[in-house]
Amino acid sequence: MPLECDLSEWLEISVSVDGEAAEAVSQVFNRYGVGGAVLELRVLDAPDDTYYSVAPKGSVKTYIPVEDEDTRQKIERALWLLGRLYPLPEPQFKVLAARDWAEAWRQNFGLQRVGCSFVIKPPWEAYTPAPGERIIELEPGMAFGTGLHPSTRLCLMALEDYLSPGDSALDLGTGSGILAIAAARLGANSVLALDIDPVAVNEARSNIERNGVSQQVRLYVGSLIPPANAKPGFYVPQGQRFDCVVVNILAEIIASLAPRLTGSLKPTGRIIASGIIEERLDIVLDAFAKFGLAIREEKREQDWVALIATLR
Ligand code: SAH
Repeated sequence: MPLECDLSEWLEISVSVDGEAAEAVSQVFNRYGVGGAVLELRVLDAPDDTYYSVAPKGSVKTYIPVEDEDTRQKIERALWLLGRLYPLPEPQFKVLAARDWAEAWRQNFGLQRVGCSFVIKPPWEAYTPAPGERIIELEPGMAFGTGLHPSTRLCLMALEDYLSPGDSALDLGTGSGILAIAAARLGANSVLALDIDPVAVNEARSNIERNGVSQQVRLYVGSLIPPANAKPGFYVPQGQRFDCVVVNILAEIIASLAPRLTGSLKPTGRIIASGIIEERLDIVLDAFAKFGLAIREEKREQDWVALIATLR
């Protein structure tokens, strides 16, 4: 760590932890860090045979001014004490320049504007929307990082373009519920939100409730194809067709679902397929071509591609 630092530098302290210890570390960071603790837990992709045992893993971070040696020592001491209760790895320290800090702050705590109308905000941030703005309030949690992934941003923008008021929508792989809430905000009449991961579904449920869209959104542990070891109650829609289907998962999964996606569309329906890293785009393009879907538009951000497709 540099000894000379100007006042605009911040120290990021992070600890890699699992769910229970994460809570204890968060308490320390909430007490000493500027802006409290930032949880960056994510649900790991599980191999097929462990469909339901996705363990949350990730890190808890906080930020303090680089020159605040006193607070740093307090945090180190508190973490050391915690380490006697939980097996904790060494904390990692990283100095952030003012610019990185602003970005980290924006991603972790602040408002995020996406597309023409969406404002994503954490619950503690007070904000009065301007006319035409659509607020989505999200509790940063386990199913989903607090910063928006490019693939999610692409979906939000595509929903603005391709979802009309009164539409029926399917949000496949709802995660935090963000896209289901966005669809409801855009005036969807009914939204079916599905995720194979019960942890995500719990989180989506509380986000859907906090946004007051429970009337429009039905939410289940489910998918278009049940996994081999699906538990009783795993929901698979039968014969339902939608005006708009949004699926932000991974190229391979989207490709494997292609025939079922085709079968979920009304004749004039649109699919927004995202989560596709550029080098895997062909996998999805091939599957869509094979199962009767025609590409209407590609949206891109960084290396990520979202496809908008309709029935051919
Ligand atoms: N829709 C959110 C979350 C995307 S993350 C967003 O756009 O930000 C992808 C989600 O898809 C995860 O929550 C994961 O559990 C879920 N998922 C993975 N495979 C799935 C499948 N075959 N069917 C349904 N959901 C799936």
